[in-house]
Amino acid sequence: MREIPFGKPIIGPEEKQAVMDVLSGTTLVHGPKAIQFEQDFAAWTGAPEAVSVSSCTAGMHLIYFHLGLGPGDEVLVPAQTHTATAHAVALTGATPVFVDADPETGNLDLDQLAAKITERSKAICVVHYLGMPVEMNRVLELGRAHGLFVLEDCALAVGSRYQGTHAGLLGDAGVFSFYPVKHMTTAEGGMIITRDSELAAALRLKKAFGVDRSHGERQVPGQYQVVTLGFNYRMSELHAAIGIEQIKRLDGFLAKRKENFWRLYQALEKIPGLVLPRSSTGELESSYYCLSVLLEYPDARAAIMVSLKEAGIGTSIYYPHPVPKMNYYQELFPCPDDAYPEATRYSETSIALPVGPHLDVEDMDYIAEQMALAVSQKFPR
Ligand SMILES: *Cc1c(COP(=O)(O)O)cnc(C)c1O
Repeated sequence: MREIPFGKPIIGPEEKQAVMDVLSGTTLVHGPKAIQFEQDFAAWTGAPEAVSVSSCTAGMHLIYFHLGLGPGDEVLVPAQTHTATAHAVALTGATPVFVDADPETGNLDLDQLAAKITERSKAICVVHYLGMPVEMNRVLELGRAHGLFVLEDCALAVGSRYQGTHAGLLGDAGVFSFYPVKHMTTAEGGMIITRDSELAAALRLKKAFGVDRSHGERQVPGQYQVVTLGFNYRMSELHAAIGIEQIKRLDGFLAKRKENFWRLYQALEKIPGLVLPRSSTGELESSYYCLSVLLEYPDARAAIMVSLKEAGIGTSIYYPHPVPKMNYYQELFPCPDDAYPEATRYSETSIALPVGPHLDVEDMDYIAEQMALAVSQKFPR
């Protein structure tokens, strides 16, 4: 039997050595590694500016904080996402306004987005669902027409491109996550990219207490002022050192994901009872985070996931409930059971299968075989 974990960070001798090198020195924070990692990530994505942060959630919160959002303000977010997308808004006191999913891709439904804009709307946050890019032209049109900031939650979008432009550079800013199971990791960590150098400068200030001079910029200790309110949302040198090594492997990671994804996709397409969401087409290029399949017979989902587990295959659900149906948000903003029907369909009928670079095409063939077996046992025809 094969052992196929859903996600597994790939950490080699280079990452370990890089961490040891930092630990052997005297600079654990405020050093050259975070700056180099920013430059490397900017070069890889084509971003004019990159600002490292301690997580994707921190980065998004930092941006909303900088925009001055607070009670009475609204931010449009997809219902089908990680709770961090909504929490980053709610932490400022502003209200996340949820938009249902597009049935074909799981991304936010652009037809419903327009209808949810009010005079209290301040921003739109899109999420490139499982790496499949949102059609940003339509979002940007709406954003401009209503004077809204457009943020891209790029937590699953390292390698996602729309019309050749990397995700995060289409809206006003994009924020990435380097949590262990994402496309590349720094253990915990995040990165903001933007074309706006003034925004980047403000975020650099506010991610570090609002202090106007970093340690390297002081001729003598104590030579600094606090010019604004801010957090400690910095990335340490240890985390950045891992990131620098991971970027060197990134092209290889992504090529493997793509190869695995299409191998599995083509095999699953032939299995009756499975519906596959639309992936990369033409100018929309996915980052292939995983392959989420929807079941025509959702009652069998748990049994199928157990069969796969018994065959050594790790699965997941993205996401097990639409965020507005999570208890916390349900209590704040009650919604009826039949609200967000498409996000709910994704939550209740999908199984996410792994395609990460820790796996190869033989693993994909095995997953497809076991999936066919599990489905046929649950629905004998
Ligand atoms: C993982 C994830 C986040 C949170 O990222 P952290 O780096 O853990 O803060 C936010 N949004 C989405 C869509 C995610 O998948």
